[in-house]
Amino acid sequence: MKKSSFAKICFGLSLLFYVFTVSCVKSPASPDSDGKTSGTIENTSQFSHYDDKAIADESNTSEWLAYGRTHSETRFSPLKDINMENVDQLKVDWFVDLPMDVGLVSTPLVVDGVMYFTGTMNIVRAVNAVTGELLWTYDPKVGEAIKGKRQVGWVHNRGISFYKGKIYAATWDGRLFALDHKTGEKIWEVVTFDPNRSLYITGAPKAFAGKVLIGNGGTEEGPTRGWVTAYDAETGEEAWKFYIVPGNPADGFENETMEMAAKTWTGEWWKHGGGGNAWHGFTYDAELDVLYIGTGNGSPWNRKIRSPEGGDNLFLCSIVALNPNTGEYLWHYQTTPGETWDYNSNMDIVLTDLEIEGKTVKALLHAPKNGFFYVINRETGKLISAEPFVETTWASKIDLETGKPVEVPGSRYETDRAVITPNPWGAHSWHAMSYNPQTGLTYIPTLHSAVGFSDEGIDLETWQAKEFEGGVGVNMDFDPRDNPRKYPASLTAWDPVKQELAWSIPQETFWNGGTLTTASNLLLQGRSDGKLLAYDAKTGEVLWTKNLGLGISSPPITYKINGKQYVSVLVGFGGGYAAIGGQEAYELGWSYKTHVRRLVTFSLEGSGEMPDLPPPHFPKPLVDPDWKIDKDLASRGAQEIGKCTGCHGWGVYSAGMAPDLRASSIPLEFSSFKDIVKEGSRNALGMPAFPDMSDEQLEALQHYIRNRAKETLPEYEELMKKKDLASN
Ligand code: CA
Repeated sequence: MKKSSFAKICFGLSLLFYVFTVSCVKSPASPDSDGKTSGTIENTSQFSHYDDKAIADESNTSEWLAYGRTHSETRFSPLKDINMENVDQLKVDWFVDLPMDVGLVSTPLVVDGVMYFTGTMNIVRAVNAVTGELLWTYDPKVGEAIKGKRQVGWVHNRGISFYKGKIYAATWDGRLFALDHKTGEKIWEVVTFDPNRSLYITGAPKAFAGKVLIGNGGTEEGPTRGWVTAYDAETGEEAWKFYIVPGNPADGFENETMEMAAKTWTGEWWKHGGGGNAWHGFTYDAELDVLYIGTGNGSPWNRKIRSPEGGDNLFLCSIVALNPNTGEYLWHYQTTPGETWDYNSNMDIVLTDLEIEGKTVKALLHAPKNGFFYVINRETGKLISAEPFVETTWASKIDLETGKPVEVPGSRYETDRAVITPNPWGAHSWHAMSYNPQTGLTYIPTLHSAVGFSDEGIDLETWQAKEFEGGVGVNMDFDPRDNPRKYPASLTAWDPVKQELAWSIPQETFWNGGTLTTASNLLLQGRSDGKLLAYDAKTGEVLWTKNLGLGISSPPITYKINGKQYVSVLVGFGGGYAAIGGQEAYELGWSYKTHVRRLVTFSLEGSGEMPDLPPPHFPKPLVDPDWKIDKDLASRGAQEIGKCTGCHGWGVYSAGMAPDLRASSIPLEFSSFKDIVKEGSRNALGMPAFPDMSDEQLEALQHYIRNRAKETLPEYEELMKKKDLASN
């Protein structure tokens, strides 16, 4: 059984030896039919009509104005030009190569003929949505911002916001900025957290009601108390701040809401921060003028440490409804009271009206990590229904009277190791789900996984996370014998009214992209195996498959300009699993910098011309027979490698977010290794510095990496044989 301190999996993030650039390669796109650039950009003052009403307009088909298309976040487009009869004729219309990008996980926006998107290192680009021609690039110079600092988190980001002529984006290092949509010039910028804290941003800011909101991630990186801040969309001035969990009562509570929340905590939770970080899942309800935020898991995960006498621990793992103008608390629904499994509720929050028992209900749909699908009345916050959409071994059901889960005894690893499904990857992560009001179905990129939890050997009374050292207060192991899954992922069509599965398609690879659905009852999804598929949204029948030659993590979007419907998707395997997925993720073959990242746009009239990418590539572990591995040093290196895992991969298997250290020549040579790791010589390229690291620690890391290369070489050779057989 492979036993691992999960403290090291996600956290102590580090080395990304990568290079980034601001240049786009111009695509060989065909010019617009009338020869004009349809993406003529007017100045911001003429764009004040892009307000909440415009962003909430479901009938707008020429644009994609918000992260989930409109304020409702349904990712349902009324377009029908591409339909079940012709979708098999979709062809590449234009594409943009992004040679210096790595993980691409974001949703592009389309406004008045221009497509805006964020890429690696939070670089924002504007391209003509008809031709792909690059209009401007804005580089927030994240490398400079992290210079000389230890840094946690990731180089990818899930999106941007557009509001009244301004583009809003956030950076890894915690800045939020507004750009003039016409020129890409910065209008304002704010620092949203102390840069010396072990926090980061990977989420899309949410613009609404004259504000722009952002939270942060980092619950696993150190003792952290989550919060969100809303800024004035025009000026960047702070409008309000909402803390997600209470602080130390001795310091006084910020408001009555925190005083109320504190009653659900025990012990000295504030020493651990409490957690709840809101890194994703912000929805503005333009109809009710309410903001909903999805909140994160506990800091640390193990409630026995965080809140030893129990308690629900508000507002962890909740949907919290706030007054968008003041940030005042309105109501909450907690999906996982007293969470202890990393079951955050940061997943997307989708708004629609449902007919339930003859009544129209203003509903909110939510499928968080914990495996249950929730339908909530968004006027009252009252739970309407909840059923599991995957196997859930931690809870048997949700009691509709109390609104709380009925937990399975033992699942809190009270006395023994507990095998729990879903595991911390969740039954559903940030990969967007979509809702089609015509089929009445929600389409969820679903994950199937299990884990063994135990806190044996952890001193619960003295355990304390340290900033940048991280930790979650529980051990995890992944014994395949515990794993109930027949397949690692599926595409799930879920009926929110009946609360039952309509259909499901098993998938052979983990971590597939978000979904898009249209009025012609199409459903589109990109997968981690590099394929983009179109399905019949009613039945799940596959109608079209295009192999794009590189894992897809972003959700597709659609829009129509000059009478032509387009489908666009960013192609670039990314996100947490691409960083720390280990051997399984490595075996997808999307190795660092082998496959150029792309923005690809399809239409029915496209030329279809786009060069193929190289086949999957598997970096070969370098074994130098003259390099004598010291076993003691190697085992000391095993204690240090957690700092590198967050980007270079679990078990030192890289899945493309950073170089595979087993195959890199740099760790072979001490001085260049030290230069990069300790001195930060590749800081500007995104590789954080580790200034506190001693020569001995560095040497131990070298020995550990060499040992991993040696250990994994036979398995690499096996893999090559398997691939050879498969291709013959
Ligand atoms: Ca988490």
